Amino acid sequence: MRHLLSAGDLTLDEATLVLDTAKELAQVGGRSVKKLPTLRGRTVVNLFYEDSTRTRISFEAAAKRMSADVINFSAKGSSVSKGESLKDTALTLQAMGADGVVIRHSASGAAHRLAEWVDGAVVNAGDGTHEHPTQALLDAYTIRERMGRLDGLRVAVVGDIRHSRVARSNVLLLNTLGAEVTLVAPPTLLPVSVRTWPCSVSYDLDEVLPKSDVVMMLRVQAERMNAAFFPTAREYSRRYGLDGDRFARMPDHAIVMHPGPMIRGMEISAEVADSPRSTIVEQVANGVSVRMAVLYLLLSGSGSGTGN
Ligand code: ASP
Repeated sequence: MRHLLSAGDLTLDEATLVLDTAKELAQVGGRSVKKLPTLRGRTVVNLFYEDSTRTRISFEAAAKRMSADVINFSAKGSSVSKGESLKDTALTLQAMGADGVVIRHSASGAAHRLAEWVDGAVVNAGDGTHEHPTQALLDAYTIRERMGRLDGLRVAVVGDIRHSRVARSNVLLLNTLGAEVTLVAPPTLLPVSVRTWPCSVSYDLDEVLPKSDVVMMLRVQAERMNAAFFPTAREYSRRYGLDGDRFARMPDHAIVMHPGPMIRGMEISAEVADSPRSTIVEQVANGVSVRMAVLYLLLSGSGSGTGN
């Protein structure tokens, strides 16, 4: 594995290796000194063209816990706002000797393009509506921690699938890991390409809930909507929101996930989000371990660092 661009590129063995490595590295988070020398001398650039708090901070924490040097490059206040192209920025990073570049961009495919221009490892931290592979890995890790396995589990992914890079990455990875995914959304919030995805589709949340081991709620991505995809927010939550009544219809062992940021009262009610069967806070903590694993596996092998 040279880059992490798509969750679909990972084989079962590779995905399992990331999860197992994350599990080992997670122990560092429990120590008083949260630091390993593993990536000393390596430089990781966080190249964020789109707003993000948790993902950028998570990658930064992950890199720093392994002693890498971290450069945060946010598009605002940089030459990007003066019109510099992604390619020119890439060439600058290349000249500075970045060993790894973590990129978030509003254009689908941006991470793939970047990988053609730089020698370092590229990690896709979200490209438009396309993919967000480390989110899928941390979700898979969280499920495995809670349920003990992934193989054979029934996972419902609910909400704005059309604009969600989280959904696509999760469908691809969970399928590789042996879980059965059902997407639940109104027809207007499903992408046309969904027919080719390895999952089933339902428009009826109430029907799917009792048969689910994991229910993953997605944020309604208003910033990517250029038209009206549902009548009103109230109508959306009435049919696709996870409130206390719906939560009660889930099997007792089933868990609720959300990648964040969540809109309480829209796709999920506060009582469900804060329930002990919600993994939302764990997902954030697990994100650091999984990103440590990804950076470790991509950067520790070769390159210019001391790599001990
Ligand atoms: N944080 C996730 C993403 O970047 C999910 C979201 O924004 O709703 O795609």
